[in-house]
Amino acid sequence: MARIEQPLGWFRAVGLAVLVLLALANAFMPGAHLPDEGVAPLPLSVIPQPDNIGRLPALGHEGRALLLGVDEATRTARAELRFEIPPRTPESPQWVLWMRRVPVESLKVDVDGVWRGGERSFLRPDAEHVPLPVGYAYRLPSTWEGEIRLQLSATALRTTALQPEVMTEARYDREVQRTTLLNAFGYASVFTLGVVGLALFFASRDQSFLWYFVFCLSAGLLMAAFDGHAYLFDPFGLTLVLGGAGMHAMSLVFEVAALWVLLDYAETRQSRPLLESALNHACVFLLLVAGVLLAWRQALDGFSAWFMPLAWLGGCVAGVVITVDAWRRRVPLAAPVLLSVLALGAGMLAWELAARGVLGGTLWTLYGYQAGLMLCAAMLGVGLISRISRYREQRDREQRARADSERRMYREAVRTELLTALQTSLRGAQEDAIQPIVFRLLLEHLRRVVPTTTAVAAARGYHGRDTLVVQPASYLAEIENTIGQRLQTLRRQMAGSLELQRPVTKTGGAVPVAIEALVALPVRPPGWGLIVLERAGATVFHPDELTVVRELARLALLQADEAIAALHLRYTAEVDALTGALNRRSLDQALLRTFQEAGRKSAPLSVLFVDIDRFKSINDQHGHACGDHCLREVARIINEQLNEEDVFGRYGGEEFLVILPGRQSEMARAVAENIRVALESTLIEHQELSLGLTVSIGVASQSPGEQQPHAAVDRADKALYAAKRAGRNRVNVAPAVFAPRANTA
Ligand code: GH3
Ligand code: MG
Ligand code: MG
Repeated sequence: MARIEQPLGWFRAVGLAVLVLLALANAFMPGAHLPDEGVAPLPLSVIPQPDNIGRLPALGHEGRALLLGVDEATRTARAELRFEIPPRTPESPQWVLWMRRVPVESLKVDVDGVWRGGERSFLRPDAEHVPLPVGYAYRLPSTWEGEIRLQLSATALRTTALQPEVMTEARYDREVQRTTLLNAFGYASVFTLGVVGLALFFASRDQSFLWYFVFCLSAGLLMAAFDGHAYLFDPFGLTLVLGGAGMHAMSLVFEVAALWVLLDYAETRQSRPLLESALNHACVFLLLVAGVLLAWRQALDGFSAWFMPLAWLGGCVAGVVITVDAWRRRVPLAAPVLLSVLALGAGMLAWELAARGVLGGTLWTLYGYQAGLMLCAAMLGVGLISRISRYREQRDREQRARADSERRMYREAVRTELLTALQTSLRGAQEDAIQPIVFRLLLEHLRRVVPTTTAVAAARGYHGRDTLVVQPASYLAEIENTIGQRLQTLRRQMAGSLELQRPVTKTGGAVPVAIEALVALPVRPPGWGLIVLERAGATVFHPDELTVVRELARLALLQADEAIAALHLRYTAEVDALTGALNRRSLDQALLRTFQEAGRKSAPLSVLFVDIDRFKSINDQHGHACGDHCLREVARIINEQLNEEDVFGRYGGEEFLVILPGRQSEMARAVAENIRVALESTLIEHQELSLGLTVSIGVASQSPGEQQPHAAVDRADKALYAAKRAGRNRVNVAPAVFAPRANTA
């Protein structure tokens, strides 16, 4: 942003400067329409009267200006003006004696009592009552011709140089117009900028704009004081009372206002607190001096004669230091402001030199500082306003950061919720339920952070399974058809690292109705999977959003992997690897659990001890591989005869144990009989062999109050032993210690 702002700032500054200069140029444009423009002013000599001898201006203006000082001796001076009016003709122009409006308390001209011009003063309205007087003018009688000797006497308000000229009325008019125009432009611009500053202060509550308003106000008053217009703004006649001291005080007040607004604009307080504090003290000092000057007006004339130029010089140097520092820190518009400060300083210097007679009193020297003032006010105004946009950028940045961190926090919360939901739902889940659960939860949660119309998760060969989950689930039927055909294409699209987002058009249409994005699922090859997100409208998925999807997917799949791994681990720990029945350890745990449960519920419980008959001979005759196969087949056939709640395990070698919860011994015997018959009637095929196997089964039931299974298992074992002895391929029920209860039937 800052990179863009700088050139824009320059653009604005240059535009403003051009505007100001155009207006100034207008003021200086030669008045071609005036017929006797070419008639030059008459050569004129200013001959100081004896009491003013020796105070002629130093540089180049001998005989052209009357210099007035501040002490009693030089404050009032007289001079004789000598010039020669050409002989009269009908075309002779009207001649005007004119002096620019420099600070004199009173000014009089006369010709030996024959002709007397009225009194003029810097502190009072002009005799001609023009709205913005810019000089002291006397129309010379039209009868005059030949050599004229005019007596001029003036009393100064401060050190100043009166520079009389005798010119044609047309030239005089033009001088007045130019000067008035420049003058009026100066007032209008500081007035307008001041009002804008005040409005901006009320709008933004930024105090800088209040200072800026004060600066513009004091700039207007400074112009009024320096141009002799103070009476226009002074209904109480204070100007007359304050005289020259008022001018000095006003220029000090302006200097303070300018320095304060500069310090504020440049934010010197933050960058150079020492400089800022020093300048603040200096400003307070200047305000004190202004007060003192007003209190002891005449007495301090001598003091102000040297103090004022020094104060201006100091103010200028301070202004340059502040703006150079601001420029170094890349404060917007610092360079144009620096230039305008320099222009103002140069203008003030020219004014001071003209007042001391070193430079001639021209439009440039006497009003040039106003151009600097306008430039300064314009640049500072634009500089301060550009600060508003900086505030706004800063506020926007902060808002964005806040929104970002809120979004991050929300995402984090959703992540945590997904993790919790996964952990809760996967606890105790069957293996085939794991993937649907994981994908459903994943889609549900990711749709909370990434708005989508539909979301599809598809996996092929993930832990050996194919899964397709759609959210919202009502779209399943619709999507299942299309996505099934597209999956391979989508997979290739992902693998080819092609654009993973594309606009979706309606079938047959050309206008995109939605955006589709693909995100790969981290599935271990050869399996693979992806998420297909679709969002109605034209808002593409932000890379951030896709990153979140990837993160959530990784988290979900990690949970799925863990759940499946845990299931496998539990399976291998609980199940006999050869037969798939429970192993001895799990069987012991199941025995204990079912016995205690049956005891608590007072429900019947029986156990079957199953042993394959003459199994050793199978191993011996056909080998262990055949034996193993037979064991697997026997386990399968036994399992087929059992219910869901029955527990079946390999007790050891070729012995199996069946726990029958809820069955008393008669029912258990029936189950045992089923098993025996099923085995007896099944031939086990193994490599062209058909083997007939039989089993012997011992049956025992839990006795009332029996909490531990050992005794019952022991009884079943004994019953089995009895069956073996009785000739094998039979079921034998162990005698119960107590008679079976009536309610168990
Ligand atoms: P009966 O029970 O009818 O008295 O005769 P039997 O031949 O089955 O006798 P016994 O129970 O003593 O023999 C058990 C045999 O089972 C011994 C062993 O070779 C065989 N066996 C035990 N475990 C396995 C196994 O995991 N695989 C194979 N192939 N044979 C096993
Ligand atoms: Mg045995
Ligand atoms: Mg046996």
